[in-house]
Amino acid sequence: MDDNCIFCNIIKNKVPCTRVYEDDSFMAFVDINPAAPVHILVVPKRHVPMLSDPAAEDPELLGNLLLAVRKVVKQENLKDFRLIINNGAGAGQTVFHLHAHILGGIRMPEKLL
Ligand code: 5GP
Ligand code: ZN
Repeated sequence: MDDNCIFCNIIKNKVPCTRVYEDDSFMAFVDINPAAPVHILVVPKRHVPMLSDPAAEDPELLGNLLLAVRKVVKQENLKDFRLIINNGAGAGQTVFHLHAHILGGIRMPEKLL
């Protein structure tokens, strides 16, 4: 828990959110500034700043993050979606608590890859 981290405060129920999924280790909630009709953030409850941080070098954490994504998209009936993890300010990361963006509900306008 990092007291100055917005996602840690959401996880601790100190900041409100629209929660869509929760288990012992992960939480998913609607992005406050959605970039698509469906925009859900999946976050580990453990404070890990970003994917490249040494603290993220944990197969259980990373594997279970994708398993949590699978549960959320199944629950939300999302067949097609895009999954994004921004890593570092230069890549657009603004909240330094590891999170995966699930984007869906619209035909993705462009392909980067
Ligand atoms: P990043 O840019 O770090 O990959 O993504 C951070 C995301 O968190 C942004 O899409 C932003 O809209 C979202 N966000 C920032 N603060 C809050 C908040 O207080 N509540 C919610 N639900 N989302 C937030
Ligand atoms: Zn945090």
